[in-house]
Amino acid sequence: MAEASYDPSNIFAKILRGEIPSHRVYEDDAMVAFMDVMPQGPGHTLVVPKAPSRNLLDADPSTLGPLFTVVKQVAQAVKKAFGADGVTVLQFNEPASGQTVYHLHVHVIPRFEGIALKPHTGQMEKPEVLAENASKIRAVLNG
Ligand code: AMP
Repeated sequence: MAEASYDPSNIFAKILRGEIPSHRVYEDDAMVAFMDVMPQGPGHTLVVPKAPSRNLLDADPSTLGPLFTVVKQVAQAVKKAFGADGVTVLQFNEPASGQTVYHLHVHVIPRFEGIALKPHTGQMEKPEVLAENASKIRAVLNG
């Protein structure tokens, strides 16, 4: 079967172009980080390279170092911002793996002892909660 190709009408490409809103916590020349609208826990953040690729499988390797540099910064920031005990980092490739948005991204989720993750793409969080959580993360990143 032919490999699926990158579709620039995906929702993260629209967020990167500013066509739909997001609760951004970080941006540089190559990366953006914003709140997941269906968080698996409080502070669930997505780190997204601006360079187009469906996922890790077709990504330019030069994207991955800068991506994981930002993933590390965001992981440290969410751990501090939410007083978390740990951080889960997740990344899905193609539908069989659970991927639902076909623009490379990494999930960064604060974790607390004894508290399970909520389901992937479960319930929408209230915009005011996402805005407050984003401001907590920004305060650490910019602090
Ligand atoms: P994945 O299954 O790894 O492709 O994850 C896609 C993630 O994007 C899911 O966790 C969704 O909750 C999240 N998501 C979908 N639409 C949006 C959106 N407009 N803004 C922020 N996060 C989104």
